[in-house]
Amino acid sequence: MLAHARTPEGRAILLRLQFRKGLSVEGKVLPRAFLAKGADPSGWVPFENLSPEGKRWALAALFPEDRWRQEEVRHTVRHPDVESVWTLAALFTGHGQNYDKVMAENPGLPEKLREGDTWRIPRSLLSVDLGGTGPRPVRVQPEDDLDDEARVAAYRNLLSFGEDAQGKFAAYRMRKGEALYSSVVIRYTDRVDPKGVNDLAERIAKRSGIADVRGIQPGQLIKIPLAFLADPFQSEGSSGLAEEREVRAEVRRIGHVEAGPKLKGVRIILDAGHGGVDPGARANGIWESDFVYDIAMRVRRLLEQGTEAQVSSTIRYPGLGFRSREEIPNPSRAAEILTSPPFAVDGESPSAVSVHLRWVLANDLFAAFRRMKGDMQKTLFLSFHADSLHPSARGSMVYVPGASLVPSTFALAGAKTGQVAEARRSARVAFTSREKLQGEARSRQFSEVLVRALQKDHIPIHANRPIRNVIYRGRGKWVPAVIRYSTGATKALIEVANLTNDDDAANLKDPDFRERYAAAVVSAIRAYYRK
Ligand SMILES: [Zn+2]
Repeated sequence: MLAHARTPEGRAILLRLQFRKGLSVEGKVLPRAFLAKGADPSGWVPFENLSPEGKRWALAALFPEDRWRQEEVRHTVRHPDVESVWTLAALFTGHGQNYDKVMAENPGLPEKLREGDTWRIPRSLLSVDLGGTGPRPVRVQPEDDLDDEARVAAYRNLLSFGEDAQGKFAAYRMRKGEALYSSVVIRYTDRVDPKGVNDLAERIAKRSGIADVRGIQPGQLIKIPLAFLADPFQSEGSSGLAEEREVRAEVRRIGHVEAGPKLKGVRIILDAGHGGVDPGARANGIWESDFVYDIAMRVRRLLEQGTEAQVSSTIRYPGLGFRSREEIPNPSRAAEILTSPPFAVDGESPSAVSVHLRWVLANDLFAAFRRMKGDMQKTLFLSFHADSLHPSARGSMVYVPGASLVPSTFALAGAKTGQVAEARRSARVAFTSREKLQGEARSRQFSEVLVRALQKDHIPIHANRPIRNVIYRGRGKWVPAVIRYSTGATKALIEVANLTNDDDAANLKDPDFRERYAAAVVSAIRAYYRK
């Protein structure tokens, strides 16, 4: 949508509002004062690059019918084909993620914008640039902008080691605004599930002589028993720390794989977790399977339309095919793993079979790619999930196969594989130590690029440690089978969101969010294989 306007000096200027991309302004006659410091005035200047004055002018020029009042802005929808609640939240509050707050302020209005509807954005939500108080800021930590290795190192530096009558511990001093659940347990141990986090928080509080977990003051000394520390935080001389350092060294050593922006010669296999009889995690009125399938389908479409990568899926919902959907009203009941013949995820066989058949199928497709003289360095396996973690955890988390948890050989028992051709060819794997280490290192490199792409698009990522190489539940630790046994050079399991967190659940419900998420994944793939 293009709109004609005039600058205060009276020169004609164009504004452009695009679906999912937002507002931009023609740069060539834009007054200097309307440009943010350091912004490039050539071409189309995105709204974010305007000064506060420029933003106010642009919104008034684009939406002349809006009423700016002391306590609120009343916005009248004029372009429902390109406006969305997300767009309004981005323009008026400074952040698309506030769309749920904007929705909450307008309870009578449908999420799908209609021409003539009036949306109110209260001053409390209006961005500071637009004269508002700005919504409650997302809590930030000084380590948030660091890359994964530097961030983990910074967290490590906050610990010191000590010993008392009860044994050895790592000591941590609580900082302002921190909570024991997120800033200690989720950050320094590998526990993220609600029960694991609560139990350990209680245990650590007791160990530290704290009676009430919620009453912890900044400066409080927290004692974390060594046995619970994740590998990167283990003490000098421990095998956990040695493994962590070996992987980090490999990440630095390993070169990156080049394919160019069209991803020519790259073989990508997309997996969407659960499906059929298994809806996966459930919370806040949504469930995992259909929503991650939708994101995977959007990634598939974007890759097919914009790249030359060879893309396959492991699973298909027969009623839907490879389409994405705007509305997801209820759980799909039918799904099939795309083996030959297809394997219905209908509960007739144990669901463990369908989990295993995903990597069996993917490995079989990678083997065919190799036979066709494909470069195995350019193989990528991505599995999409959403979890139900402790509600204080928010945003995406990426799992990579920890080298020490990948077996040297593994063969899936014949009875478990069903009667599919792929199982006869590809149900066994073998990995050398070198391959395990490289597998983790490449997957970490990719995950790092992915986290950056998500951050760049303001998609929430897990605070503390968004990239992990192990799952801990109860007494067991493991890496999910789909990435553990994958022969792809690069593999990751992406937990798109935490369904238990209200904001995350609201995001997943929003088709705009799912599209933006898919676009960020594709831009990460492009960045990872850049020339
Ligand atoms: Zn899952």
